Amino acid sequence: MKTINVKRTASKGVIMGKAYVVERPDLQADVRRISGEAVEEELARFERAIEAAKADLELLAEENAIFGAHLELVQDPMLYDSIVEKVREEKANAELALDEAIAAIGAIFDSMEDEYMRERGSDIRDVGKRLMCKLKGVEDSALSAIREKVIVIAKDLAPSDTAVMNLDFVQGFITEEGGVTSHVSIMARNLNLPALVGVEGIMSEVKSGDLLAMDAKHGVIVIHPDEAAQAEYAEKIEAFRRREKELAEISLLPAETPDGKTVELFANVGNIEDIKNALPHHIDGIGLFRTEFLYMENDHFPTEEEQFAVYKEAAELLEGREVIIRTLDIGGDKALSYFDFGEEENPFLGYRAIRVCLDREDVFKTQLRALLRASAFGNIRIMYPMMISVEELDRANELVKICKEELRGEGQAFNENIVVGMMIETPASVVCAEDFAARVGFFSIGTNDLTQYTLAVDRGNKKISHMYNSFHPAVLRNIKRTIDAGHAAGIKVGMCGEFASDPKAVKVLLGFGLDEFSMSAGAVAEVKAELRSTPYASAKAVADQVAKCAYVEEIDRLLSAD
Ligand code: PEP
Ligand code: MG
Repeated sequence: MKTINVKRTASKGVIMGKAYVVERPDLQADVRRISGEAVEEELARFERAIEAAKADLELLAEENAIFGAHLELVQDPMLYDSIVEKVREEKANAELALDEAIAAIGAIFDSMEDEYMRERGSDIRDVGKRLMCKLKGVEDSALSAIREKVIVIAKDLAPSDTAVMNLDFVQGFITEEGGVTSHVSIMARNLNLPALVGVEGIMSEVKSGDLLAMDAKHGVIVIHPDEAAQAEYAEKIEAFRRREKELAEISLLPAETPDGKTVELFANVGNIEDIKNALPHHIDGIGLFRTEFLYMENDHFPTEEEQFAVYKEAAELLEGREVIIRTLDIGGDKALSYFDFGEEENPFLGYRAIRVCLDREDVFKTQLRALLRASAFGNIRIMYPMMISVEELDRANELVKICKEELRGEGQAFNENIVVGMMIETPASVVCAEDFAARVGFFSIGTNDLTQYTLAVDRGNKKISHMYNSFHPAVLRNIKRTIDAGHAAGIKVGMCGEFASDPKAVKVLLGFGLDEFSMSAGAVAEVKAELRSTPYASAKAVADQVAKCAYVEEIDRLLSAD
């Protein structure tokens, strides 16, 4: 028996079963130079591979939108032109040209700072593998051959793999590569398949047929579990199933404490697909639509029409429930391939978010106009990120006013009374919360950044990750101060940072009086369960004590007590 602890969970769940180690066909490319006469035939071979790959992807795209992106990649002129040029000019055979082109484009994605964009490198490599199979005339059938219940072990899995696996047989999977934001992790969550990613060396640790037990929530893999471990896992699996069933039932109930205090439970999303996945979780609205993905997935600043279509669809999908759409929050760790931010010593303290928007009013106004026009189709609210001063806020509001006037002049419909609010994610905005509260329609606390800026602890720096703690008294007091200031001005205060999804934080946030909790949709039921078992009166009493604590340990003790 051997136990492996893993840091990166892609999708939670507890399972036990036989391993199926995925052996892939040898795609080692037959790379060579060709003669001038062979060029046309080589290009024709490449064209046939593209056509065959396109035909596969067209079918797959009908089932899963991710393949729509692959279909675009396989037809991307950058890939196509670069391969044709290598064959024509450098006399590379198609395999060599493909290998080099995919490596070069993959490297561009790899060098991007943003993790989400870095993961797109795996999409282009997936497309490259598909083309290579077509060129070599081989099938990659290891996954489609699965005929019994197994836990899949693979070096990496691509979105196309999850589509060809028979999901009646696949209990879950473990990969050596991949990050938590990769498409394959997202698909695992959507399919409700337990999965662990980034488990180095697992391919050599495990053989097909080995018995495995895995707790994906806590990141534990047991190879050859002994009898005691098997019994323990059988119990865990049962407990997990019971909990899932309970949570499914709880998710149908109102977000209400036993003594009758209700709050709103909202979802955080990054695109329309996320909204569709969030709706079955019985959410009360969208508390954070991160629009930056719309910009990051494009090769140009999205036009007003492109944005309008997305925001309108979001508004319509929510059928009257609130959709809080955050204006562009770019910079820091989120780069755009088509916009140069310049070198920065401290990007998180640099040219980002509302600072970029107020500097590039043309970009900002395009988004504001799209948001305003979409507000005619549902309950859209606008939210500004990263505010530090009322001057910034006044200017942003002035631009909203100007956009409204323009639209009025053009006879375009929009909601005249659209509510505009802001994130509280800088210490400056907490200190001046009263001034801001008098000028906006709502607050939403961004604890991811508020924690990093309050504590001066970089949220992405692994070396000091133990210091990144939203239960620190300074962070908690900043949260309380924000809620008090918002309520004194009569506005709603929500939270869309990760802290809102921490079941351990529910008591103190409820006690402080938080009105709306926004999180990834998968966490909603768990938080609702916590709320429904926490009387508001006792939460308030505990929160009052917590606000006075100087030590994190005291806070932990108060919040762990029943
Ligand atoms: C936050 O900072 O808490 C937040 C929700 O914004 P983001 O994580 O996108 O910076
Ligand atoms: Mg933030």
